[in-house]
Amino acid sequence: MPFQDSFEFAKKIDSEDPIAHIRNEFSIPKDHNGNEEIYLCGNSLGLQPKLAAKYVKHELNQWAELGVKGHFSGDFPWMPYHEFLADGFANIVGAKKSEVVSMNTLTANLHFMMVSFYQPTETRHKILIEEHAFPSDHYAVESQIRFHGLDPKESMLFISPREDEDDIRDEDIISLIKQQGDSIALVMLPGVQYYTGQVFDMQSITEAAHDKGCNVGFDLAHAAGNIPMQLHDWNVDFACWCTYKYLNSGPGSVAGCFVHSNHHRSEDLPRFAGWWGHDKMSRFKMENNFKPMKSAEAWQLSNPPVLSLAAIRGSLDTIKNAGGIEVLREKAIKLSGYMRYLLDKKLSDDVAIITPTETNRSGSQLSLAIKLKAGDSSDRGKLVFDEIEKQGVIGDWRHPNVIRVAPVPMYNSFTDVFRFVEILRHAIEESR
Ligand SMILES: *Cc1c(COP(=O)(O)O)cnc(C)c1O
Repeated sequence: MPFQDSFEFAKKIDSEDPIAHIRNEFSIPKDHNGNEEIYLCGNSLGLQPKLAAKYVKHELNQWAELGVKGHFSGDFPWMPYHEFLADGFANIVGAKKSEVVSMNTLTANLHFMMVSFYQPTETRHKILIEEHAFPSDHYAVESQIRFHGLDPKESMLFISPREDEDDIRDEDIISLIKQQGDSIALVMLPGVQYYTGQVFDMQSITEAAHDKGCNVGFDLAHAAGNIPMQLHDWNVDFACWCTYKYLNSGPGSVAGCFVHSNHHRSEDLPRFAGWWGHDKMSRFKMENNFKPMKSAEAWQLSNPPVLSLAAIRGSLDTIKNAGGIEVLREKAIKLSGYMRYLLDKKLSDDVAIITPTETNRSGSQLSLAIKLKAGDSSDRGKLVFDEIEKQGVIGDWRHPNVIRVAPVPMYNSFTDVFRFVEILRHAIEESR
């Protein structure tokens, strides 16, 4: 679609947007003037779907009215409550229902997955990870390596962008796997990079890693609900994601986990077990003879926090009502495409977009580096960020020099994008 640089044009594409009404299914925060914020922070904390609030209230009522009987009563009894989320998760990550489960939190799941899928030997002991991975992922990997009595200096293998480049080339990951694969036990990378918004070629990375006999896991914190995936067909071994970013399920909400069906029957996988992973037919016989379920549910430990699962169910239903992840992606490409067009047209001297340009290498988020010129103070980017925030734009600032903004298809509009770029242009002019 040929874009135009005018508010009228932005309004026109909003009026033609088949899913514009989904915004009304969300609570939109107001700025200090009482106007709706331009909320471009769905990559950090997604807004509240009205259905999430409704479903959580319903479970609170069930608890008040039924007490322990809520485990078995009503349309959505608590006992199998996590099963009601499997369909939605499976669609979002491209999996079979038996391959996904909601449990724990993201970093906890990374650990539990590494217990099963990182089994170092004398010759094959490395974990391949980004040099500038999200700190939690870095700490998890480092501590797992230590837990096995190994030295992170020997066993953490890093990949980074080439000098003077912002994004990691998929080809560089693949050639590193080809060269060093025999010593790599696990490749653990993000689906979408949190700082740059880069989408990785998960399919080719998985193929290359499996050719060398390595396990592959992805952290989908910034991918789940952002881009469509086909984890089952790509043969990914495991994946973990949080649900409070693009999945709009509330701060610290329960996370999601994928384990490929290839592993559901392997008897020899080590795991840290709990009663909720035990065969559900005999779970309440209370015999101490662990019999894992033949699905991703085998990795569950505890009976899950239903209030949090209710919020996730509300969010997944909202995505379904919007037409599903493919429909969202179609709008997302246009939204971020429009933002890119306006930034290139109006601000190319001052703003560098470090997110890759190719549609298949970027999701909703654009990461903007404010260019520094001779005489600029080094904190100019942060000053610009503070100014746009005062004007009602919610994005986030990531040290050392990036403003992250994510126009998301569920509740952002093309007029949001237009107004954001105008506010940014003013803030940049003021900062001189
Ligand atoms: C958001 C995010 C996390 C957060 O982890 P929690 O365990 O949910 O606190 C971890 N890793 C990445 C890559 C993230 O983007």
